[in-house]
Amino acid sequence: METEADPGKRLKVAIIGGGLVGSLSACYFAKRSQNVDLYEYREDIRASKHVRGRSINLSLSARGIRALKEVGLDDQLVNHHGIPMKGRMIHNLNGSQRPILYDPRSLQCIYSVSRRYLNEVLLTAIEKNFNVNLHFSHRLISANLQEGSMTFQLTDTNETVHKKADLIIGADGAFSTVRRHFMKQPMFNFSQTYIEHGYVELCMPPGQDGEFAMKPNYLHVWPRGNFMMIALPNQDRSWTITLFMPLSDFEALDSPTRLLKFFSQHFPDSIPLIGKHQLVTDFFSTKPSTLLSIKCSPYHVGGSALIIGDAAHAMVPFYGQGMNAGFEDCRLLDQLILKYEDMPVALKEFSAVRNRDAEAICDLAMYNYLEMRDLVNRRSFLLRKKVDNLLFWLLPNIWVPLYLSVTFTDIGYRECMENKFWQDKVIRQAVLALGVLATAMCAVGFFQWCKASFDVDAEVSNPVQTA
Ligand SMILES: Cc1cc2nc3c(=O)[nH]c(=O)nc-3n(C[C@H](O)[C@H](O)[C@H](O)COP(=O)(O)OP(=O)(O)OC[C@H]3O[C@@H](n4cnc5c(N)ncnc54)[C@H](O)[C@@H]3O)c2cc1C
Repeated sequence: METEADPGKRLKVAIIGGGLVGSLSACYFAKRSQNVDLYEYREDIRASKHVRGRSINLSLSARGIRALKEVGLDDQLVNHHGIPMKGRMIHNLNGSQRPILYDPRSLQCIYSVSRRYLNEVLLTAIEKNFNVNLHFSHRLISANLQEGSMTFQLTDTNETVHKKADLIIGADGAFSTVRRHFMKQPMFNFSQTYIEHGYVELCMPPGQDGEFAMKPNYLHVWPRGNFMMIALPNQDRSWTITLFMPLSDFEALDSPTRLLKFFSQHFPDSIPLIGKHQLVTDFFSTKPSTLLSIKCSPYHVGGSALIIGDAAHAMVPFYGQGMNAGFEDCRLLDQLILKYEDMPVALKEFSAVRNRDAEAICDLAMYNYLEMRDLVNRRSFLLRKKVDNLLFWLLPNIWVPLYLSVTFTDIGYRECMENKFWQDKVIRQAVLALGVLATAMCAVGFFQWCKASFDVDAEVSNPVQTA
């Protein structure tokens, strides 16, 4: 049930950052009839030709979809725009391909969505609310989090403006200015880790028939041990390809000849599909981007400020959960504000509940890079996947494999992780028990064989007695 704030008690909420998470958060506050001002550093992306920023498309999964559903946007974004991906399509070095389904029952999938389209739909949805004002080209430069005062620089005129709010929501991404002000608070902990790998985005155009050049309903992966390439489908039948690799290896690819040699060694099947010219042009048109993971706590300052999304928990992109987790933040925050009707209590609870889950998904995202680029090629991994699938089929409520619980449920990320530890332990113990059983059976067999041999020997050496 939607609850409307009493006009006298309407909060003045300032959301910093009109990216994916800030825009969705604005939809939630608008739905509760609070007065919302959304401040975004960039100009309105709906009016701009080129949008700076990361990945062209993203995978949207259950947590994100559920949050979008609560503001009535799931149908437009998932059913009318998203391209379903039912599993990974692994590209071997010899050009052969093998699918690994996400859900062995083929019931669930993730969706490839365009970052820009998603952001535009969210901004347009916010604008339909009378109680929301969008302020583009507003860069937050300083804030007093307890007092709710903020200073912005207008990027088009360089003018400085001062604003006030009851609640400041920092959804201003991994390099958050709001979080920088949290640093001055006592007991605020912060850590960031850059990984040694970076990424470059390339484009695979549609085939000559105008259709997808590869099987569309998969996330394509070229796992090559220490590096990998992935591809997600786009609405216009092209693919966005991302090459993840150590930054030092990128540096070594400093000429078209070296690049093409590298691709023909490691991704030969992709060259005719991308096209040599496009590959070289895309690759050398940008520098590799870096990847980092951020952990911090708490996420709130009293009842007057909160950080969400990447500002609170940026993660490496290998679980496809950064945006999904940020969307889940918006849903959880809404639930807690409704439940407690007391902002300091709700924000404190948000920090407590969300921090342990956010840190778990940051760690899982690091782990998943290893799985995607290397483990998927190993027999032990494929065997474990088969065991997981069998147990999931037999005990669907008890044995939910890690990827499924993270991607297709809203079980807390920490619980998903603990569940995996428990499953690993059960499997280790089962393997140990099987080992002991097999050893015992071998020992019994050996004993019986020795006994039988002894009896035969006794018969041969003493025929009279045995007769
Ligand atoms: C290569 C790559 C692939 C990814 N793939 C996936 C995926 O498949 N699935 C998934 O769930 N996640 C994915 N992610 C993660 C996802 O992109 C982020 O988690 C998500 O964008 C976070 O949204 P956000 O709104 O918190 O931050 P952002 O998207 O960074 O938005 C922050 C906004 O704040 C604005 N801003 C910044 N500073 C200020 C300021 N001082 N004043 C005003 N405004 C400001 C920025 O202009 C921006 O619009 C991927 C990330 C990368 C790098």
